[in-house]
Amino acid sequence: MGALLSVDNIVVRYGNITALKRVSLSVPQGSVVCLIGANGAGKSTLLKAIVGLEPLAAGSISFDGRVIASAGAEDTESAQADWRAKRAVRAEKLTTDRIVSLGISLVPEGRRVFADMTVEENLEMGAFRERDAGVVLRKIDEMYSLFPILKERRRQKTRSLSGGEQQMMAIARALMSSPRLLLLDEPGLGLAPLIIKHIFSIISRINREEGVTVFLVEQNAKIALNTSDRGYVMETGNIVLEDVSARLLENDRVKAAYLGE
Ligand code: ATP
Repeated sequence: MGALLSVDNIVVRYGNITALKRVSLSVPQGSVVCLIGANGAGKSTLLKAIVGLEPLAAGSISFDGRVIASAGAEDTESAQADWRAKRAVRAEKLTTDRIVSLGISLVPEGRRVFADMTVEENLEMGAFRERDAGVVLRKIDEMYSLFPILKERRRQKTRSLSGGEQQMMAIARALMSSPRLLLLDEPGLGLAPLIIKHIFSIISRINREEGVTVFLVEQNAKIALNTSDRGYVMETGNIVLEDVSARLLENDRVKAAYLGE
């Protein structure tokens, strides 16, 4: 199947620091793809670039065949070659809001839930674009069947939830906008191993049963590779390895650097 998300040679800078150095990757429709890498490798920066929160210094990002972010027409080779492409690139610099409405939803690192709101209010927030109250209620019910514990906690303030429950709520909130592509930034961060396992099994279900394409960034390489079809390895702003996840699990370099074997 074709790529739902395509990242082509992107560069992102923070002042003098080049956080992403010509990164390319692609996420096929219907798949689960993971990106593993150590602290500071540039993983979060990549997710932020995809949702339009960090500007590109070079390269472009396409979703479903449409350019959603680019460094601007001057920087792209195709634009130099073709004025029509140039015009298209200029026209397709989208805001985060617009990117979300096209069908990309991000679960940010650290979960960022609205702590003083109840679980149900948080879920409603996730569907703020939906004007039909019936649709919102149906979506909330769907989330309660995917995450039964959230139904039990529906009237509780989010701050009273455990870390695992907050992560489930953050994922459910992201799903409320019915995304085609779900981006997850370190869903296992700070959680106990059993909870991590549970969260990742739900991520698999979301992919299998709801047909949502998943791109996840994770430091826990073992669970990320076990849950995904393909994987990329990032080191200091570069993709250094790319393969089917099952093969990466057997790769000596991955074993030594990320699996502690
Ligand atoms: P982590 O797991 O800690 O989130 P990461 O792989 O997601 O790590 P990034 O957060 O993307 O890495 O950071 C990549 C590089 O960019 C690091 O060197 C980091 O210090 C730097 N960086 C990230 N955000 C900023 C910022 N807002 N200003 C300056 N430098 C930044």
